[in-house]
Amino acid sequence: MEECLFCKIVQGEIPSKKVYEDDKILAFYDINPVAPIHVLIIPKVHIESLAKIKNEQLELMGYIFGKIRDIAKDLNLVKGYRVVNNCGQDGGQEVGHLHFHLLGGKSMTWPLG
Ligand code: AMP
Ligand code: ZN
Repeated sequence: MEECLFCKIVQGEIPSKKVYEDDKILAFYDINPVAPIHVLIIPKVHIESLAKIKNEQLELMGYIFGKIRDIAKDLNLVKGYRVVNNCGQDGGQEVGHLHFHLLGGKSMTWPLG
């Protein structure tokens, strides 16, 4: 996906402040944080959104959630955190490459507006 912002981050064409990287995923700090800790976790493979995940990619989703758990622990989010996926237009998704927001470092309310 040549014009995908997050694919460019994966390829190092656009810099990011990396938190974790392996062959399957990349985690980096959000450029416009909405919480004291705001990390984005993305698969390296281009998947447009949660709605476009293929059944054969579900194992990768489990892998991502295990890594989100590990990253939250490494970042010492002992009091808890929130994981958000914005999917599609109504979900408020702005970047068309699947990503999970890991938010922490403050007490959050629910529900959202
Ligand atoms: P979403 O609205 O769920 O698609 O979230 C996209 C997120 O990507 C937003 O929180 C942006 O602040 C973040 N973002 C956009 N460009 C960059 C970038 N170059 N580096 C890090 N985060 C970015
Ligand atoms: Zn992409």
